[in-house]
Amino acid sequence: HADTAMYGAKAAGRNNYQFFVPEMNTRAFERLMLENALRRGIERNELILHYQPQIDAASGRISGCEALVRWEHPDLGLVPPAQFIPVAEDSGLIVPLGEWVLREACRQQVRWRDSAVGNIQLAVNISALQFRRNDFVDTVARALEDTGADARCIELEITESALMQPDDHLIGRLDALCALGLTLALDDFGTGYSSLSYLKRLPISRLKIDRSFVKDLPSDAEDAAVTSATLSLAQALGLDVVAEGVETPAQRDYLVTRGCNALQGFLYSRPLAAEALEVWVGEFETIAPEALG
Ligand code: C2E
Ligand code: MG
Ligand code: MG
Ligand code: MG
Repeated sequence: HADTAMYGAKAAGRNNYQFFVPEMNTRAFERLMLENALRRGIERNELILHYQPQIDAASGRISGCEALVRWEHPDLGLVPPAQFIPVAEDSGLIVPLGEWVLREACRQQVRWRDSAVGNIQLAVNISALQFRRNDFVDTVARALEDTGADARCIELEITESALMQPDDHLIGRLDALCALGLTLALDDFGTGYSSLSYLKRLPISRLKIDRSFVKDLPSDAEDAAVTSATLSLAQALGLDVVAEGVETPAQRDYLVTRGCNALQGFLYSRPLAAEALEVWVGEFETIAPEALG
């Protein structure tokens, strides 16, 4: 084990070896191993994007997809983001990882543009750490330029918590992103503490209602109150709303009746690899949308 531990510390980018004493807690050790494995995984192109369709409530057609990263580990198989995004954020690996995600989504937008899938919007999750870097706008501009992606078809999802207490500087950064032609969505909406005056100042186009509020719709009275209040608020502010985690026709109906613009969830599809998404689009477009719910 000593060898592995030494290797781990070296690979972690430190200049000298560190010896781990047996008392070192197992979780910290596992985390370091995971961090090193993830660093290698990024280098070895083991990351892959899956795409989850978003359905336009008015037309019943696919309007876009959210790009969701997975890690295809040679031994562990497909690792979900909940298991490695936190490690990526703690270690700073989220910066190269996030840039890869953005560029890959842009490349996919270009590949699909001229295919049967067409010019659909791709939503990309941006971590607070990426967004708060001074070179973030440049990174996005370069990704668009290098890939030739249509900026109007790229939406950046920034979490409500990442935009906590936004000062003029951060709002300026959001404006600069909009000036590139892309759109912004506020992810996990309802889980933070946005004030109304704050929401009004943000140059966002959409709110994403967090899955935790959708899960127990329509029976849970509090979740029902939160989602319908969110939908009224969005309408008043001229924002579109997409609900995530829509699993049942009852949830869909509750949301659509109250003005929700787009729906994303297992009712329609799980996140799919690009090729599977292409097949799904072909099948979805040939059946009447009503048949799905
Ligand atoms: P998120 O951005 O809120 O993404 C939505 C999550 O809800 C996805 O989980 C999706 O698979 C899941 N979901 C969608 N519809 C349903 C449903 O009907 N039922 C259930 N049970 N789940 C549903 P996933 O892919 O595991 O991603 C989890 C989180 O990891 C994301 O939450 C996001 O915060 C983060 N994440 C994923 N990809 C990226 C990425 O490329 N960059 C960053 N920074 N974070 C990412
Ligand atoms: Mg998201
Ligand atoms: Mg979300
Ligand atoms: Mg969420």
